[in-house]
Amino acid sequence: MANGKVKERDYYEVLGVSKKATKDELKKAYRGLAFKYHPDKNQGDKDAEQKFKEAANAYEVLSDPKKREMYDLRGSAGLDDMGFHGFENNADIFSNFGDIFGDIFGKRFYQERTGPQKGPDLRYDITISFTDAALGSEKQLRFTKSEACDACKGTGAKNGAPTVCSQCNGTGHISRQQKPDGGFFTISNPCPNCSGSGRRIDNPCDACNGEGRATKTRSLSVKIPAGINNGSTLRLSGQGEAGIRGGRAGDLYVYVKIASHPYFKREGLDIQYNAHISFTKAALGGEIEIPTLNGKVSLKIPKCTQSNQTLRMTGQGIKMKDGRKGSQLVKIAVDMPKKLSERQEELLRELDKLEHE
Ligand SMILES: [Zn+2]
Ligand SMILES: [Zn+2]
Repeated sequence: MANGKVKERDYYEVLGVSKKATKDELKKAYRGLAFKYHPDKNQGDKDAEQKFKEAANAYEVLSDPKKREMYDLRGSAGLDDMGFHGFENNADIFSNFGDIFGDIFGKRFYQERTGPQKGPDLRYDITISFTDAALGSEKQLRFTKSEACDACKGTGAKNGAPTVCSQCNGTGHISRQQKPDGGFFTISNPCPNCSGSGRRIDNPCDACNGEGRATKTRSLSVKIPAGINNGSTLRLSGQGEAGIRGGRAGDLYVYVKIASHPYFKREGLDIQYNAHISFTKAALGGEIEIPTLNGKVSLKIPKCTQSNQTLRMTGQGIKMKDGRKGSQLVKIAVDMPKKLSERQEELLRELDKLEHE
């Protein structure tokens, strides 16, 4: 199939409508074109295939008020910026517009859906400690998910492979010709004998009751990157539920919640901490021990440190993989003594005298 960028025609021109076309007019115009260029009717015709796709793209854009406004304003460059790049294949078109095609085309839409399907995604919620989030860690997840049944190797049939459905010869659908106004159509209906799977299971597997899938408990280790934010999601590709009819497995999404810490708070890559020091230490200066992510570290208190002053411990914050580093910010609270000994009071009175000299 050619995948090159084809020069785009104006979408209004494609549908053959005016710039003021209403929703109903657009729908009617698109229906007509989809009918005319439908792949069932034009097998192997590249030009029809292109026109079928073009009409779908035009309709997708013009029937959506937001996309239409952008298109009127800036053309297809505006749509590119919105992230709209058109339909890749017919299956996309059918799954989007199945309802528009109505009875005739809707059947084909169903048929596309009986092929392999990606397995469902799974969600796992995990709460990790503040420190694990800040430093990064590895967590073991245990969860149940459906996988191919061992006993029947995912086929659902006892003792080996299921038999091919005799009514549809394994195709999963039954075709018959119909002749509506516009020409010949091949109508496909899902086979009633095998519900569209193409296979019959005469003796279902005991272990999975013929489902072909079994619930299993799995454990998996997941790396939590240092500095992960609360509410982040990690995606583990292919770790979700087993696919259907040979489709690929779904993904596992891990939602990460971070527990609060008794005395640390995060502000970007910095860690905030409140330290209490005595008023004499604040005045005279000295050293105190401060808990950090990396254990206790001594912090120098400069002379005449004020209450609410913040001291920065460079390099003691969160270290990101890309080399960015935060600090620990220590906010100082100066504590007044709750009671004074006689000697202390005496000294303070002397100090007081000095301050009034
Ligand atoms: Zn089984
Ligand atoms: Zn069948």
